[in-house]
Amino acid sequence: MDSTTLSQMSFTASALTGGGTYRSIIDHRLERRALINEYRRGRLRQDQVCDAHPELIRAATNVGTETKNPCPICEEQELRLVTYVFGPRLPPHGKCVTTAREMATLNRRREELSAYIVEACTECHWHHLLRVLPVGGR
Ligand SMILES: [Zn+2]
Repeated sequence: MDSTTLSQMSFTASALTGGGTYRSIIDHRLERRALINEYRRGRLRQDQVCDAHPELIRAATNVGTETKNPCPICEEQELRLVTYVFGPRLPPHGKCVTTAREMATLNRRREELSAYIVEACTECHWHHLLRVLPVGGR
């Protein structure tokens, strides 16, 4: 899988249709580190790793959760986290969840949903899927 496919998966439903519904936490930190290493070794260009969808950058700017972690690519901006939930009766591109209350409501649903935690840099547009968490399915 090339990096473009990987990055597109971070906020489209294609990741779900490909692998079925995951019911445990999936951690993507290893892929993240590998991607950053490839970039630092010059095997990936910046535009290959900093290709966040404008919608994701907009969400990160307006409703993203601030972190203390500097962007691994431009090192100028602190990363922001955005959560998208995918599943039945949700938009195909995912529902951007911004409050704990909203998440609690989704978590009470009977359907099995998945929350995608994505980090994004509003400066250089680096983005990466960090974790996938099970939601709902009660
Ligand atoms: Zn950056």
